Amino acid sequence: MDISKRHFLTGCGTLIAGFSIYSVAKELAESEAGVSVDQTQTIKYAMVHDENLCIGCNACEQACRQVNHVPDGVSRVVINRTGPFGEYPDQSYRFSRKSCQHCEDAPCVKVCPTGAAYIDSETGIVGVNPDKCVGCQYCIAACPYQVRFINPVTQTADKCDFCRETQLKLGKQPACVEACPTHALVFGNIRDPESELVKTLKSKPTYRAKTDLGTRPKLFHVSTIDGEIVL
Ligand code: SF4
Ligand code: SF4
Ligand code: SF4
Repeated sequence: MDISKRHFLTGCGTLIAGFSIYSVAKELAESEAGVSVDQTQTIKYAMVHDENLCIGCNACEQACRQVNHVPDGVSRVVINRTGPFGEYPDQSYRFSRKSCQHCEDAPCVKVCPTGAAYIDSETGIVGVNPDKCVGCQYCIAACPYQVRFINPVTQTADKCDFCRETQLKLGKQPACVEACPTHALVFGNIRDPESELVKTLKSKPTYRAKTDLGTRPKLFHVSTIDGEIVL
């Protein structure tokens, strides 16, 4: 059990497997201990999807498609719906986000034979350099979150890049975050204690998928109160 999880469970006195209040202090401590990818890194982008606020409208997916010119048939972000839960008429659904987790220890980067898959040392964003990608699909096979695909137009590997080129460079939030009508998505710098992202992580219990693999994903989820939990 990691430290953040132990703190949460101790504080709540409740045993809920897989949940944690993400410890920003732990992040900083890890940095000081040299565990992090780059301890001098002052920006490390992450995202939270609050499943309690999500209404499954898919505005995020459509905005992503438009802004990043994602072709039909593939997607950088998917909102999965499960349910209904409960008895009619008191039924509810769970909406969970599936997209790149921007892993700090990214399997896709490790297996790429050309260096096309990489972690940006300035932002922590996991990117794809289409000029170096040969379409071998090693990264697609290695990703435990199944979020990579071959772009049918470019014939190179593609996935969410937190809108680095299309939005962040213009000083904007990612397109999905801007489009979300319920503010279910929060994006920001996990190294900035004043960021809305860090305040959200401090105020709500979150979980991350497949942390047991050691990938250190930076997509956090606030689990829906109703419905199942899929890790
Ligand atoms: S979620 Fe998959 S594509 Fe994204 S960084 Fe992790 S291994 Fe790579
Ligand atoms: S951050 Fe950008 S690329 Fe990633 S899912 Fe949102 S809109 Fe798409
Ligand atoms: S836009 Fe917001 S509310 Fe709509 S599906 Fe995406 S995350 Fe959920």
